[in-house]
Amino acid sequence: MSDNSRKIRLVMELRRAGINDTDVLSAIERVPREIFVPETFRDRAYEDTALPIACGQTISQPYVVAFMTAALQLRKRMLVLEIGTGCGYQTAVLSPLVRRVYTIERQRELLVEATRRFKELGLTNVVTRFGDGFKGWPEVAPVDRILVTAAAKEIPQVLVDQLSEGGMMIIPVGGPGNQEILRVTRREGRVETEPLMPVRFVPMLGGTEG
Ligand code: SAH
Repeated sequence: MSDNSRKIRLVMELRRAGINDTDVLSAIERVPREIFVPETFRDRAYEDTALPIACGQTISQPYVVAFMTAALQLRKRMLVLEIGTGCGYQTAVLSPLVRRVYTIERQRELLVEATRRFKELGLTNVVTRFGDGFKGWPEVAPVDRILVTAAAKEIPQVLVDQLSEGGMMIIPVGGPGNQEILRVTRREGRVETEPLMPVRFVPMLGGTEG
């Protein structure tokens, strides 16, 4: 089976699993996941599963990428901050849906590779940064949306502070074995928190490597 028919089958699976945002589904359909996975797993690029990448990290499961992207309720004019670029797959899915994606990664080797892929795909609205996502990106704040793709022990206040009024953050929170994806909305100085789904992500770590 070709990558393209595998990809179409994956999109049908996501639809059956309850992802019904057509903009999100077509973004998934546009992104060649095979270029984001290591050579040895290339034949499994369109399975709905997480896979290992370099530096002991993972490429997220397509269902989780689709779910989190849909949960962000994106609009074309929005600025989005992503913490945890990894291989860059989630970033590439966000790119066609919004005005600009700012993405931060703490492992230099991963960021270099991801940046090369964004260039190869012509994703000119993606801006990358090597750094510690716990600090956010103060120079571009406030942003409309924040997506964190590593699990934090608690909601980082620094990131909440970089959201615009009415802004939302999607973030997995918790320790090993009891994480869940939260939607955090900033409204009139208050913060509303909504649990969305149990998950398993690699941990969010402080500092940088490489
Ligand atoms: N978004 C990726 C999944 C990334 S896995 C995808 O589409 O598949 C989580 C990533 O978060 C890892 O690459 C890890 O290095 C990174 N990470 C963990 N803590 C971080 C932090 N404080 N700042 C920036 N990146 C972080």
